[in-house]
Amino acid sequence: MKPPSQTHAIDFDSAKLQRLGFGQLPPLLERPASLAQLRQQMSLQLQTSLEPQRILGLFFREAQRLVPLDALSYVHQASDLRLEFGTRGHHSLSYSLSHEGEQMGELVFRRNQRFNDKEQGDLESLLSSLLYPMRNALLYRAATQSALRDPLTGAGNRIAMEQTLQREIDMSRRHQQPLSVLMLDIDHFKRVNDSHGHSAGDDVLKAIAATIKAQLRNVDMVFRYGGEEFLVLLSNTSREAAAMVGERLRYATQAAEYYADGQLIELTVSLGCSTLLPGESADSLLRRADSALYVAKREGRNRLAMAG
Ligand code: GH3
Ligand code: MG
Ligand code: MG
Repeated sequence: MKPPSQTHAIDFDSAKLQRLGFGQLPPLLERPASLAQLRQQMSLQLQTSLEPQRILGLFFREAQRLVPLDALSYVHQASDLRLEFGTRGHHSLSYSLSHEGEQMGELVFRRNQRFNDKEQGDLESLLSSLLYPMRNALLYRAATQSALRDPLTGAGNRIAMEQTLQREIDMSRRHQQPLSVLMLDIDHFKRVNDSHGHSAGDDVLKAIAATIKAQLRNVDMVFRYGGEEFLVLLSNTSREAAAMVGERLRYATQAAEYYADGQLIELTVSLGCSTLLPGESADSLLRRADSALYVAKREGRNRLAMAG
């Protein structure tokens, strides 16, 4: 007879995780540290997260136990990721990170004092502790992005929109902050397809999504709502401020140049704006934005209408 199998369970409840240094940022150890010590401590700390923001935040803070820094910035084009820590500095050291041919982003250290050779060598050595944690975080980000993004435009898909909208409504209630939405629809988009073909239409859609995203602080709040309709969530934004953002989007999409099959074409958009009412549901908020959009279309397009 086989002995009964044993199951070992470790319950990492949040109190334990805190004690182990997960959750809150662990306390800063005294400086200075030797390079070897710091590398060892960093490798342990950096693997406690899959969030690029947290991993780089820890890296920036810990690296300063060896090399004083004023700022760290990081850009990963492929996943629309831009992170900044600290303030600016006159001198910079830039690194293009890659691993087995895979681009892992551009990292820039800045400070007001010039970097000497030893500091440069130390930073390069510390960067190796960043490699695997960042690679895992980027893979994780890519996986969650593909599940929640529209592949054509890179905007959030309907699933992402529903999740984010509900979360923003809850936040708005809890913190008693206004929440507004903009529903945006391209004017006469059918004509683009009819004159230049569907594939040229797709390119134009992509370009419009990029124009919208370039105007907004938080690109994670832009969603593809339907074929050529986008929804923008504006957290902590009043009706008046949302109207200004809407006008800015309308102006920017009109001013941008679009090419369909190599031919320059003019495009405009119409927008409907609504602001969350006390006790209002997500559906009702969207319905009011959609009705306002309908008014903007009816009144001649290339305009913004506010929900009553
Ligand atoms: P309106 O000013 O009233 O919005 O006119 P419209 O032509 O933009 O509106 P309508 O809703 O009649 O047509 C939208 C068109 O958008 C229909 C469809 O062919 C096109 N469309 C929707 N999704 C896509 C897409 O993913 N790619 C392309 N190329 N076209 C799309
Ligand atoms: Mg349209
Ligand atoms: Mg439409």
